[in-house]
Order: sequence, then C-alpha cells, then structure tokens
Amino acid sequence: MESQIHKIHQQLVNKEISCMSLVQEKLNLLKQNTHNSVNSLLEDSALASAKKVDTKIENGQEIGLLEGIPFGIKDVYMLQGTYTTASSDLLKKYKAAYTATAIQKLLDAGAIPLVKENCDSFGHGSSSENTIFGAVKNAVNPDLVAGGSSGGSAVNVAKDNTVFSIGGDTGGSIRQPAGYNKIYGFKPTYGRISRYGLMAYASSTDCVGPIAKSLEDVRIVLNVMSGKDPRDQTSYVSEAVSADLKSSGIKTVGYYKNFIESDAISTKIKADFLATLEKIKAKGIAVKALDFFDADILVSTYYTLAMAETASNLSRLDGTNYGARIEGVNLKDTYSITRSENFSEETKRRVVGGNQVLSQGFSDEIYLKAQNLRNQISARFTEDFKDVDIVLSPVTPAIPPKIGESLQDPLAMYLSDAYTVGFSLGGLPALTIPKGTSTGLQITADKKKDAEVLQFANFLNEIL
Ligand code: GLN
Repeated sequence: MESQIHKIHQQLVNKEISCMSLVQEKLNLLKQNTHNSVNSLLEDSALASAKKVDTKIENGQEIGLLEGIPFGIKDVYMLQGTYTTASSDLLKKYKAAYTATAIQKLLDAGAIPLVKENCDSFGHGSSSENTIFGAVKNAVNPDLVAGGSSGGSAVNVAKDNTVFSIGGDTGGSIRQPAGYNKIYGFKPTYGRISRYGLMAYASSTDCVGPIAKSLEDVRIVLNVMSGKDPRDQTSYVSEAVSADLKSSGIKTVGYYKNFIESDAISTKIKADFLATLEKIKAKGIAVKALDFFDADILVSTYYTLAMAETASNLSRLDGTNYGARIEGVNLKDTYSITRSENFSEETKRRVVGGNQVLSQGFSDEIYLKAQNLRNQISARFTEDFKDVDIVLSPVTPAIPPKIGESLQDPLAMYLSDAYTVGFSLGGLPALTIPKGTSTGLQITADKKKDAEVLQFANFLNEIL
C-alpha cells in the first residue's frame, strides 16, 4: 500500500481536504468503537490542533510532513493530562502527569493524537482480552482476537481509524497483532527509541514502535521517534533510515529450522513460508537453514525474566502513590486488597510467578538460569549474523484464536509467542510485514541494523 502520510499531507497542502474534516471523520469512526479498540478519545484537543493546522494552511504557511496527521496511542504511554489506564482497574482514573519522549517528538512534529487505545492490561497478553474495556476484535474477522498486547492499536490502523498508531513491544506485542490484522508493525533495536513515559512491563526488552499500513509510514514515524534521550540511559544516537530503501548488500537470508519443523506450526503457514523462501532463492539470494534454541526454551526464558521484571516494576502500584486504593484493616491489608481487586487474573499470575522466581532459595536456580540462557541466546544471534544478513520467520505458528479461547489456556497463549520473544531477548530489530503467510512474515537483522530490515521488507514487497 502507498504511504498514507504522504497522501494525506498532499491533500492538506492542496486544500483538497481540511484537517478539521479529516480529524472529525476519524473521531466519528472511533466513537462507534465497533471493535473495542478505544479506551478514551482526545476529541477536544484533537479538534483544536486540527484547527491550527487549517489556519496555517489558509495563511499560506508551510506544514511539516506529520503536521495534522491523526494517530493513536496504546494506553500505556504517558500523555500529559490524559487518562493512562494500562487497561486496568488499578489505573482506571489515573491521568498522566507528563508526556512520553516518543509521543512528545510526534507532537513536536505536529501529529495529532486522537485516542488512547485498548490493550492487554500492562502489556500482559497476546490477545487483547486481558482488559477492562472489553476484548478487542480482529479487524479482518471480528470473531477472532485482535492479538496483543497492542491489539487496539493494530485494529485502529487496519480499520483506518488512525493513520498510524504507537504500540509497545516487550515480547511481540507490536509484531503479533500487526500480523493478525494484516498490517506493518516494527519493533526497533532495543534503545533506538526512548522508553521514558512508557509504562514499564519488562524494562530490559520494552520497546516503542510504529504500526502502520505501509513501510514508508513505518519509516517516517520511526525516524521521528528515534534518538538518544537523557531520560533513558539505554537509548542511543542513531542515523535516520533513508527514504531510498533500494537494497543494499543483502546476500544471505537465514531461517530457524526448528521454528518450521515444530509440531505447533500450522501446515498452511509452514507451506506458505517455505514457498516464500523459494521466491527469495529465485532472486539469487542464498537461503540458509540455521539451528536455534527450541521454542519452549525461548518462551520459558522470556516469561521467567518478563515476570520477574514486571513483579518488580508493578510493585509501586499499591494504592499509595498510584492506583485506586481500597482501604483494609491495616496498611498491609490495604495493599493486599487494592492489588487483589484491581489487577487482572493474568497480571496477578505474573506478579506471583515473578516474585517466586526472584525469591530467596529460587532465584539462583530459576532467575539466574534464565539470565544465563538469555546470554547464550544473544551470543547465538551474534554468531548467526556473521553468516546471514537477515533472519526470516513466520510471525506466529497459527492463525488468531477465537475470542475467549486463550483465556482458558494461558500456557497455549504463551506458546503463541514462540517466534517473537527470542528476538526481544536479543534486543534485535524485527518487523512484521503483511505478506508471505496469513499472519505475515517477520524480518530480523543484527542490532542497530534497522535500516537493513526495512530494506529487505521493501525487497520482499517487490517480489511477493
Ligand atoms: N505476549 C507477550 C507477553 O504477554 C508479549 C507482550 C508484550 O510484548 N507486551 O508477555
């Protein structure tokens, strides 16, 4: 698909549409909330911003490329003065006191936020059903889940309710819902975009990233949000990805044999993936099968660390400084009731699991073992990327489940992340494109090679 951002920008500049009418049209779609993608609307501020853009255009002033472009924000980002609920009862009435760096950069570029978007509470999930705002419905088939945790963001983009949305990806939460709703979703290299103002789930893998309908729109939004931020010491200086995505010296593509030979993969996804490899070979690119850790090792390493980190990060939410406090008979009881009543079952499962793996007597055997495995996984990536330029994989082993199914079987839900969590542990850039298999393809490169990922996506768009 062509770039929506460039198209709308031209329409605004040529006065074919007004920004007010554009924003109003999107707000009208969002108000219907047919897919439960909306937590709260930012109607007044959006219309006020749109009016300013129109005035500028009427006065013959130049506008920037993102100026007046309506977008959505997963409801885990701080945007000063707006409800920032993480789709939880605990923060149902919480209003952000400041604005996340990534979002501020978009505001500075003139983009207009319309909506805080539904997601799995605190990013905990792969279906966007763990939310107090109702399960998000898949944009393609509303009986199926939207994927998660950034399900509302993916659905808003797929349904044209927003031009792009900002998701958050800890273990696949941008890539998986993008795949389930047949759009693009990018998790950049860890640290490329500041995490300041993104509510922390697992800080060592949390990433900010764009969801959009075209590769060019992913690129534009990525470039605006990237950069070193003194408020996030893991952020780094990066070069903008150039608009010319003509590739580059990509000579060898690898794929993980055991991902494709696993019993869990659907036969159709497997066949489509293998057919894609043949098309790549036919263009003169070498394709190399690689050995890798089994999916259950990746999933258990990821969930051990993610649960430990989230138990620690969410410990501040006890009803004292943050959260809907429920008074008990004493302080300890107050903490206990506040957290028991206001966290989802899934969040509680993770807090209990996380505290268990961190506790004395268990941490050496479980937490440190997972850290050790993570180091081995990262080392394997470093080795692999000496041999191949890109690793290609399916995004998910199967098509989206029906709404309600994953809630009955959390373990099956965790396994649906089999192909995404490993790249998160490695901090690698990974992009979902809506091609190749029915839930898309995932393109990964070595750390900081985000440009190569986008270039290879451009190549695949030409040949698939
Ligand atoms: N589904 C994964 C999890 O629940 C990933 C979520 C995410 O990336 N926020 O942890």
